Amino acid sequence: MKHNFGAGPCILPQEVFKEASEAVLNFNETGLSILEISHRSKEFEAVIVETERLVRELLNVPLNYSILFLQGGASQQFAMVPLNLLPEGGKAAYLDTGVWASKAAKEAKNIGQVDIVASSSDKNYNYIPKGYSIPTDASYFHYTSNNTIYGTEVFDVPSTSVPIAVDMSSDIFSRDMDVRDFDLIYAGAQKNMGPAGLTLVIVKDEILGKTGRTIPSIFDYQPHIKAGSMYNTPAVFSIYVAMLNLRWLKAKGGVAVIEQENIIKARTLYDEIDRNPFFKGTAELEDRSRMNVTFVMESPELEAEFLALAKERDLVGIKGHRSVGGFRASIYNALSIRSINALVDAMREFEDKHK
Ligand code: PMP
Repeated sequence: MKHNFGAGPCILPQEVFKEASEAVLNFNETGLSILEISHRSKEFEAVIVETERLVRELLNVPLNYSILFLQGGASQQFAMVPLNLLPEGGKAAYLDTGVWASKAAKEAKNIGQVDIVASSSDKNYNYIPKGYSIPTDASYFHYTSNNTIYGTEVFDVPSTSVPIAVDMSSDIFSRDMDVRDFDLIYAGAQKNMGPAGLTLVIVKDEILGKTGRTIPSIFDYQPHIKAGSMYNTPAVFSIYVAMLNLRWLKAKGGVAVIEQENIIKARTLYDEIDRNPFFKGTAELEDRSRMNVTFVMESPELEAEFLALAKERDLVGIKGHRSVGGFRASIYNALSIRSINALVDAMREFEDKHK
């Protein structure tokens, strides 16, 4: 068995892979593949309705928020958010906590004025800035709740009177949160929700339609809302697999239950990083992510050897992002504590061999 610590696309539950593969051959006893059915068929209608219901239930999404299944990844949202929320002559406030956050701000700058309220680029994004102020005349405030590359996470929603748009690509469905704290949430699905090719957007209806801009329809949330995510052909298979994965999450007891597992998984790995003299974490303690655990070796020349040992032990996808180096273990919902223990065992084995 491979232990997949990949950052995304990433591990999903084995039973989801199995059921999805069966549906590729014969979807719900229709004699048709999920890959060939019409997105307008009653069979797919049932899938998209159930997926939306599961998102609403698992995240407790109030009825005045729409749930959208779009494409183009989180990167497309970097542009759609300002197109839909930033009026001509208005300004937006952005928190710069990494590559994805700064890419989001860069796209917004193409559309209007952007204030960067704070940045952690001075320390290669190894912490979450605190104590900054958000201008009250901003049209919205944008931040990234989990910084996949640097292994930092924002646990407290910043306090502000302006609407909040958040990129939750890598921690959505991993912990309890209150949707009402946000006006717009978006996430590429390929971490805790499902396969790549699908983007989830949860948006408070009343904040839309106020910019006075002419927005190309495909980038305008409102036509997608009116068409129930069928303005154009949606990512049929990705939505189907997301539905299976959310059913799995619901059967486990939901987000609050998986959060407790995620806390234990993260603690087990961080404890070993802190105890083992060969390794050290890269993120500030209080900002450590529960989804992406970044660490390096005290002696960088040993990293290739540890990577080789990891490979022998079937630990896959732990090489760090090139902008941080070292290692990154992504420990999303579907990764079991057994995989964490296998990584910890390899770290101990390495220590025993070298001490
Ligand atoms: N935001 C975050 C936090 C991410 O982790 C990623 C991708 N890993 C992106 C945005 C970009 O997502 P996509 O590739 O879906 O455009």
